[in-house]
Amino acid sequence: MANKMIITCALSGAETSKTQAPALPVTPEELAASAEECWKAGASIVHVHARNDDGSPTADVKVFKKAIELIRKRCDVVIELTTGGAVGMTPEERIAPVSLQPDMASLDCGSVNFGNDYIVNTVPIMRQFAAEMNKYGVRPTLECFDVSHVQASHILIKEGLIKPPYHYGFVMNVPAALSMSIKTLSYMIDQMPAESYFTVMGVGRAHLPGIYGAIASGGFIRVGFEDNIYYSKGRLAKSNAEFVERAVRIAKEADLEIAKPGDVRKMFALKE
Ligand code: ZN
Repeated sequence: MANKMIITCALSGAETSKTQAPALPVTPEELAASAEECWKAGASIVHVHARNDDGSPTADVKVFKKAIELIRKRCDVVIELTTGGAVGMTPEERIAPVSLQPDMASLDCGSVNFGNDYIVNTVPIMRQFAAEMNKYGVRPTLECFDVSHVQASHILIKEGLIKPPYHYGFVMNVPAALSMSIKTLSYMIDQMPAESYFTVMGVGRAHLPGIYGAIASGGFIRVGFEDNIYYSKGRLAKSNAEFVERAVRIAKEADLEIAKPGDVRKMFALKE
């Protein structure tokens, strides 16, 4: 499987607005249509946040449920739900959608600056989230916004709350958090335990460096409007799929095969 490149598309996130990026999918219908386009283009995982009709972020399980149902009707892409939610949501709100038994869910591994805001993830919150994911057979993506977060994940692993194979998500270049460089990325990679995979999530200007960094270091790629809205300098992306199509071209140039959802299910040992 070493030659396979997994591409995740983070369809919308919680922060990006339609004013900034008119092509942003917001409603469950729009999310499902975008997920199918990305899957056709070569994405094997979609990362999903839910929004209210006015575009504001929501933790409403009913909205997540509708999005999951509509995506599953259209394609077999692996579905990863957020449990990062949005700034200001309670841990109980953030973890609730895991009861819908998505294939995967993000698990933030520490507190961090998020621009002018702050994301709170204490170790007890992380334990609670890992336990819920175990209960529903959901594979966590261990999202690390800082090098210390990788070390914090070791606590959960040591306590048996997370089982291998581990999948890390390195979130690079969030404003006021860890910058993207080969040195910072390499340090994160060095801290991972054995039997680990990782995906590089390059935010904003780190989008392309993140893709190339992932390829150079044996990791996987994440693209999408959650992380970045510009296809190139001053030019907004037309769709999430446009980002996926470019990632596929770059990975193929690097002589990598594009993973299918079935490959991901096998590699990450996802529940049937
Ligand atoms: Zn997210």
